Amino acid sequence: MDNLVNVEDLSINFGKLNVISEMNFNIKQGTLTSILGPSGGGKTTVLRAIAGLNQNITGKILLDGQDITHLPANKRNIGMIFQSYALFPNLSVSENIAYGLKVQKKPQAEINAAVNEMLALVGMEQKKDTYPDDLSGGQKQRVAIARAMVMEPKLLLLDEPFSALDAKIRVELRNQIKHYQEKLGITMIFVTHDQAEAIAISDDIIVMNDGQVQQQGSPMEIYAAPQNLFVANFIGNHN
Ligand code: ADP
Repeated sequence: MDNLVNVEDLSINFGKLNVISEMNFNIKQGTLTSILGPSGGGKTTVLRAIAGLNQNITGKILLDGQDITHLPANKRNIGMIFQSYALFPNLSVSENIAYGLKVQKKPQAEINAAVNEMLALVGMEQKKDTYPDDLSGGQKQRVAIARAMVMEPKLLLLDEPFSALDAKIRVELRNQIKHYQEKLGITMIFVTHDQAEAIAISDDIIVMNDGQVQQQGSPMEIYAAPQNLFVANFIGNHN
């Protein structure tokens, strides 16, 4: 299987603090890979570097073979979904989903068709004219997912997207994300500190701590054959 993303010798400092040190990993095309590790280990920092939101880096990031290390964020064709929904409060659900396509000046008929398709996919047709303040947390996150996917990104980055939601909704949404990944073939990188969540949805897991990869492998490999004590303790320590 081809790699969509190659991260080579990535290092990131904030002032004197070294947060990421010479990380190397690959993300296979069409897969869902989790970056799993404890809080403060550098997961968000890596994701932001791939998204182009942190340009103060050394090393190399390739997307589909292209060196994007210093490409502006808006030229990368990468979507992002965060824990906080970051919807536009003054735009309706439909308008939020349409926003990026409007910026790209796509024809209105094309925008309408794409927005309707996404509304159906995430089950939000009934709420298309509602404003974000009148949605539940789970519904807001569905809109955020639709808004990211409508842009047909090469890569979708999800940073603890469901951790603010209650357990039932969290499981429902993560199953849906898995479904979209398989149905639409979108490559996804999913950041989480939750071992059970990573094991449930990932094709591949990168366990990281202290700015370094501790192990990369399938959930089964990580679970059954941890490569070092950190991985063994972290995976074994269900919370
Ligand atoms: P994680 O996502 O695994 O919780 P982060 O990537 O958010 O970890 O943070 C890793 C480390 O980098 C932490 O020690 C954090 O305090 C530090 N850090 C993150 N962003 C900044 C920043 N903009 N300036 C200074 N330090 C930062």
